[in-house]
Amino acid sequence: MGIVVAIDGPSGSGKSTVSRRVAAGLGLAYLDTGAMYRAAAWWCERRGADLGDAAAVAGAVRAMPLDMGLDPRSPGVVCDGVDIAAAIREPHIAAVVSTVATNLEVRAELARLQREIIRAEADGGAGIVAEGRDITTVIAPDADVRCC
Ligand code: C5P
Repeated sequence: MGIVVAIDGPSGSGKSTVSRRVAAGLGLAYLDTGAMYRAAAWWCERRGADLGDAAAVAGAVRAMPLDMGLDPRSPGVVCDGVDIAAAIREPHIAAVVSTVATNLEVRAELARLQREIIRAEADGGAGIVAEGRDITTVIAPDADVRCC
């Protein structure tokens, strides 16, 4: 059984850097949940979903073909076969991601995906370091190590 380390904290607190270093140092997988919200925003726009239409956004996210790379040394993000690791860091995505992230159906779907990834790494691998603002409270409250 692998270890689960959950790290949260406000934006700009350095949690990504710490998470990646800890994961790389301990040979664990790494999950950036913020990247999943950014990917969801990118995907909704690619699909042409109206970001103001909560039901359309939720439907698009449920169909999102997202492949999260879990290597802390090079955590890729691929959606619909496209490497979007750089695109999701564009200012435009930062400007619209909160519209997607405040959609409760989107949060439920991404929470489901995040728990699935964490469980797979805990059950079948050395473990995982997962980071994001609701990781220690909502997604993985019984993680072996919680840093907030
Ligand atoms: O951490 P990062 O800046 O990449 O997150 C992008 C956005 O995704 C945040 O501004 C927030 O709106 C959302 N987010 C969230 N819950 C998380 C991670 C990110 O709502 N666990």
